[in-house]
Amino acid sequence: MNIYLAIIIASLLATWFLGVLSDRLSAKAMLPAPPKELADVFDEQTYAKSQAYTLASMKLSAVSETFNTLVLTLAILAGGFNLLDIVVRAAGFGPLLTGLGYIGGLALISGVLGLPFEIYHTFGLEKRFGFNTTTPGTFVLDRIKGLVLAAIIGSVLVAGLLLFLRGTGQYAWLLCWGFAVLLSLGLTYVAPTWILPLFNKFTPLGEGELRDKLERFADKAGFELSGIFVMDGSKRSTKGNAFFTGLGKRRRIALFDTLIEEMDADEIVAVLAHEVGHAKLGHIKKRLAMGILKTGAVFYLMSLFLNSPGLFAAFGMEHMSLYAGLVFFVLLYTPLSLALSLMVNAVSRKHEFEADAFAARTTGRPTDMISALKKLSATNLANPTPHPFTVWLEYSHPPVLARIRALAAHTN
Ligand SMILES: [Zn+2]
Repeated sequence: MNIYLAIIIASLLATWFLGVLSDRLSAKAMLPAPPKELADVFDEQTYAKSQAYTLASMKLSAVSETFNTLVLTLAILAGGFNLLDIVVRAAGFGPLLTGLGYIGGLALISGVLGLPFEIYHTFGLEKRFGFNTTTPGTFVLDRIKGLVLAAIIGSVLVAGLLLFLRGTGQYAWLLCWGFAVLLSLGLTYVAPTWILPLFNKFTPLGEGELRDKLERFADKAGFELSGIFVMDGSKRSTKGNAFFTGLGKRRRIALFDTLIEEMDADEIVAVLAHEVGHAKLGHIKKRLAMGILKTGAVFYLMSLFLNSPGLFAAFGMEHMSLYAGLVFFVLLYTPLSLALSLMVNAVSRKHEFEADAFAARTTGRPTDMISALKKLSATNLANPTPHPFTVWLEYSHPPVLARIRALAAHTN
């Protein structure tokens, strides 16, 4: 058997199996009653609902993962990648447009196959548990905007990579790396003003107790904020959140309107303090550096495998091409990508604990952060007791119970 084919099929099946195993373990780790730390926000009914939500989400992701793995495996084995190549080549475009057509075609097929699951997730699952506020109109508009945006950004990225790979010999991977990093930094820079407003409305937080407290905290922590914005998250879901956007001086914080409704001013200050902690403790820079190194490693490895005839034989290809090589490499890279994401998630969970501790220290009130976390987990119906294997495999944030216990250690 072709070694590349063996690696790709084995890693697809292994990834699927790890997901199933993780769900099984977490389903078994559920407790009949909420842990005592959460008893005041999870009454019996809310707790039962959170467990039912966790199980229903697991079931949906198991069905969609199984479907995706099956379709991809069959497409590889049955020569689907070659078939698409023949169709796109028949259109008779030049090499660049053919490459864009091939990769765009694959992206479109995968988007269409995923659409029923997305629709069911939003209007079935999330609606059943009372989260969904997305109207069909918003859903359709979101998809159209997303598609246009992905087509623009994706075309620039793919065209750039193909041009570098074709014209610049053995150092092509270095140029690809630089290009991909610049493009992603550029996008992060323009996201708050150009991209995010396409999907949500951001309004400056009005004057009042909340803004005073947030500004006072930022001042005290020596943290420059270019703005505090309220985002209409309630347009899509009742779930709450907060996040930073932009880089350097253009950094602003966005608070979901749902978060403001749920929490009091001190709790929101704790949430801001946590986010400021990420910046002050260098987490954002470390994340960026990890991402840049990872991208570099990907392109270097890609340069080693891109022209392997065996890789093309694995997919039953009649023609070799740079664009198909890019796609096949992404699949070949699955096991390493999984290993890297486990590492990145482990670092990220450590950062979360550190940012919580920063919030507790700088506000002097760990109880505010604790009650903010409790409210968030109750309104989002988070599973309070995931199995450690699930945390290791999938979680970028520690489970809320672990965070509360770590914070409680600060109170005495
Ligand atoms: Zn965080």
